[in-house]
Amino acid sequence: MIILKFGGSSVGNVDRINQVIQILIQYYVKKKKNFSVVFSAFQGVTDKLIEIGNAAFDRKSDYKEEFNKLYQKHIDIAKGLNPNKNVVLLEKINLLSIELEEILHGVFLVKELTTRTLDYILSFGERFSNTIISETLFNRNINCEYLDASLLIKTDSDFGNARVNFSITNKNISDYFKKKKIPQIITGFIGSTANYEITTLGRGGSDYTASIFGAALNASAIEIWTDVDGILTADPRKVKDAFPLKSVSYEEAMELSHFGAKVIYPPTMLPALQKKIKIIIKNTFNPTFCGTEIVNRNSNDSFAIKGISSIDDISIIRVQGGGMIGVTGIASRLFGVLAKNGINIILISQASSEHSICLAILPTFGLKAKKLIEEEFRLEMIDKKIGSVIIDDNLSIIAVVGENMRHTIGIAGKVFQSLGKNRININAIAQGSSELNISLVISKHDLTKALNVIHKNLLQTKRR
Ligand code: ADP
Ligand code: ASP
Ligand code: MG
Repeated sequence: MIILKFGGSSVGNVDRINQVIQILIQYYVKKKKNFSVVFSAFQGVTDKLIEIGNAAFDRKSDYKEEFNKLYQKHIDIAKGLNPNKNVVLLEKINLLSIELEEILHGVFLVKELTTRTLDYILSFGERFSNTIISETLFNRNINCEYLDASLLIKTDSDFGNARVNFSITNKNISDYFKKKKIPQIITGFIGSTANYEITTLGRGGSDYTASIFGAALNASAIEIWTDVDGILTADPRKVKDAFPLKSVSYEEAMELSHFGAKVIYPPTMLPALQKKIKIIIKNTFNPTFCGTEIVNRNSNDSFAIKGISSIDDISIIRVQGGGMIGVTGIASRLFGVLAKNGINIILISQASSEHSICLAILPTFGLKAKKLIEEEFRLEMIDKKIGSVIIDDNLSIIAVVGENMRHTIGIAGKVFQSLGKNRININAIAQGSSELNISLVISKHDLTKALNVIHKNLLQTKRR
C-alpha cells in the first residue's frame, strides 16, 4: 500500500486536477499499485472558510455573497471536470452547501463562533474537494470510494489543533481497510472527538492525515505531492538559489518544518518515523523528478548543513535580574505559567550566568505573556530581584539545520561570520546539544539578506 497526498497547491483549478488524475492513472492505476489518496481542500478554500465564518460572526451580511462565490467555485470545478456527467455530483455538492449555509446562518443569528463550530465549518473544504475528485475519478472509470477521515481519526477536543488518539485511530483504520479493496479518496485535515464532533489537526494538517493512514496501514511509502521539487535548502520565495535536497532525516525535516519550511507539516514525521516508513516529497508539476526522501538515516552525503528555514514574525520576551542567579525553579515557573495558558515557546536562550532568560513566542501572545510573567513573579519584582519584563518585536528566527553539523567544526563560526560581514546584528542564539539546529534571532528587516548570505556561504558551492 502507498498513501499519496495532494495539497491545495496541486488542486487549485480544473487543469491542475486533470494533471493530478493523469499522475494517478500513469503511475498507479496502470501499474496496478495498491494505493489510496488524501486530498486537501482546493487552494485558498480553508482561508476563505475562515474569512466567511468570521464575517458571519461579525454580522457582515456580505458573508452570504462570499459563501455563494465559494459554492459557485466548487460547482464550476465539478462541471469543468465532468462536462457530460454531473447530476449526481452536483446533487452531492448541493447537499453539503445546504449544511454549510445553515451553520453559517446559525453563527450569524447567535453571533457566536466557537473553535468547535469553526472546525466544523473548515471541514467543508476537504469534504467538497474529495467529493468532487472521487466522483470525477469514478466517472472516468477509476474504481474508488470517498472516505470521510473524521469517521476513523479520533482526537481530543482541542479544536483547531486536535491531538490524535492513536490506539483507537490505528485500529479504526486497519479494520476499515480490511473490508475495502479499492482505492480510498480520503479527506485530509479532519478528525472527530469521542462525541463525533469534527476537529481539525492544525493548518497544513493533510500531510499529517497521510502519515496517520500510512503508519496505521504499514504502507511502503507516503508520498506528499506539492508544487515544488521537494524540500529545498531554503524557502524558494526568499532565496532564489535554493535547490532540492535528495534526502533528509526525519529529525532534519522536523526541524526545518518546525522553523517555517511550510512544505511539510511538522507532526507528519512522527507516525512515519515510528514505523520507519519513508516519506517522499514530489512535485505534481514535475512528476518525473525524484523529489526528496525523508528517511531514517541520512544518505552519506557531505553537506554539513542541509537547509535554512525561518519564522518571519516573532517577539522576544526577556526576563532578567540579579535575583535569578543560582535560584532554582525560576525557569520552570516561567515556562510553566506560559504552558498553562497555552502559549507556545519557540526558542529559549539562557546565558550561563543565569542573569537573564530570553524566550521567543509568536507576537500575538506578547502582551498576554508579559502580563502572566509579571503576575507570576510579582513578589520578586517588588523586591527588585527581577527587573521589568521586556518585549522586543519585529524580529525573525533563522534555523540552520543539518545532522552533519555534529561532526563538523566551525559551522556556527561560518554562520556568524557571514552575518557579521554583512553587518547583521544577532539578538539571541540557541543551539541544542544535539547540534542539529542553530537558531538565531535577528531583526525582521534583515531576514531576506541574512538567509541569502548564509545560503551563499554554506550551501552554494555544494549543489548536487
Ligand atoms: P500544499 O498546498 O501542497 O500543501 P504548501 O503551500 O503547504 O503546499 O507547501 C509548499 C510550499 O512550501 C512551497 O510552494 C514553498 O513556497 C514553501 N516552502 C517554504 N520553505 C520551503 C522549503 N525549504 N522547501 C520547499 N518548499 C518550501
Ligand atoms: N486545507 C487545510 C489547510 O489549508 C489542510 C492542508 O492544506 O493541509 O490548512
Ligand atoms: Mg501544505
